[in-house]
Amino acid sequence: MPPAEWVPGILEHAFVSTVMEIQKTADTVIIGGGIVGCAAAYYLAARGVRVLLLERGAIAAEASGANLGAVGASSGVPGATLAHTKKSLELLAHDADELGRPVEFVRAGLLLLAGSEAERAEVQEFAATRRQEGIEAHLLSADELRNLEPGLGPGMVEGAYVPGDGHINPFLLTYAYAAAARRRGAEIREGIEVLRCDVAGGRVTGVMTPAGRVDTRRVIVAAGAWSSTLLAALGVELPVRPGRGQMLVTEALPALTPRVLRTPAINLRQDARGHVLIGSSVEYAGYSREVTLPTLARFAQLAGEVMPALRDAKIIRTWAGLRPMTPDGLAIIDTVPGVEGLILATGHSRTGFSYAPVTAWLLEQMITGGQTALPLEPFRLGRFAAPTADHTVSGRA
Ligand SMILES: Cc1cc2nc3c(=O)[nH]c(=O)nc-3n(C[C@H](O)[C@H](O)[C@H](O)COP(=O)(O)OP(=O)(O)OC[C@H]3O[C@@H](n4cnc5c(N)ncnc54)[C@H](O)[C@@H]3O)c2cc1C
Repeated sequence: MPPAEWVPGILEHAFVSTVMEIQKTADTVIIGGGIVGCAAAYYLAARGVRVLLLERGAIAAEASGANLGAVGASSGVPGATLAHTKKSLELLAHDADELGRPVEFVRAGLLLLAGSEAERAEVQEFAATRRQEGIEAHLLSADELRNLEPGLGPGMVEGAYVPGDGHINPFLLTYAYAAAARRRGAEIREGIEVLRCDVAGGRVTGVMTPAGRVDTRRVIVAAGAWSSTLLAALGVELPVRPGRGQMLVTEALPALTPRVLRTPAINLRQDARGHVLIGSSVEYAGYSREVTLPTLARFAQLAGEVMPALRDAKIIRTWAGLRPMTPDGLAIIDTVPGVEGLILATGHSRTGFSYAPVTAWLLEQMITGGQTALPLEPFRLGRFAAPTADHTVSGRA
């Protein structure tokens, strides 16, 4: 967890329960209090669904509190999910106004930078594929880049600029969804782990916790990188595994950039207090949250190349978080064949904040209406039964 002074409002967030008593029934139990679970609770509670969200630790204490906070339509996969990320950004902009708390949503754009001739092709393809699907994206020459971002290093030779993308404070957004869900009637409990889901006669009947059993006919698994362990006991094989991402954050610096700056190797952004967040790796190291010197040293080096003003900045903190990675980098939003009432909302990989609002919106439609307004096909569990293309998710952190 960050120091309390790092995020204003962190102390207002006080859901921690001291009592272990738990309600005995719920329409829907959501497992996990990350961005996916909290956004889902908010959307479902608005439709009158009696939601109980169970989080074993604290809200946003895992991947949702460890990330860079880059959000944007451009993070979708061309041909598959750009419509979803476009919708998600629209929902996020709406929610940011409605949630009743500041979430530090800054929509000043994203710059994907080429730091070498070899990286130009990726940048050009990124801009072209986004434009083809109606997302505003411009290719900028080295001179145009410097007009937009005077602090860029001399090695940045070309860039793709997506003005509609941006960043948010991931803690504040997750807390805001949780608080607003509560105001809409959702029950949110921290410090309560779901030990198992109970299934009888081919349908969900409840969940077991150390505080007792909750009867329910619907469970949404939003347990991030731990979703597969939870479901293995039911014989459901979920291709979700922890992908460690390391990050570092600098001291507060004078304003450098309002944008997300991305190269094929790193991402950075400056927060509302002037700290620059820099990351992030994807490493398959089990559930280890260790940070390593070679990775952080490389981030520091690359960040100085992107913005020379960062070369002398002091690092005040480093950390690692565990992304719920799928083989193709796309989430799993689906029901489970043979287990009625069991719904998956997990595997959001490197772009959970870009997809969280649309995930919650799709879940709301699945649960209250049946038919979804955008296709669920890219997110179906069944896609892993057949060999899949490993999508290159370029809009990622
Ligand atoms: C370094 C890093 C940088 C990133 N940068 C970005 C970015 O810029 N933009 C972006 O969109 N995404 C980014 N991501 C990815 C993003 O953070 C994730 O996709 C997203 O947070 C996943 O949200 P989640 O709610 O599914 O999982 P989590 O936030 O991990 O939440 C799952 C929750 O479930 C709880 N849980 C697990 N098991 C149980 C149980 N049995 N009972 C009760 N609770 C349980 C956990 O305690 C946890 O709080 C980044 C991730 C990392 C690590």
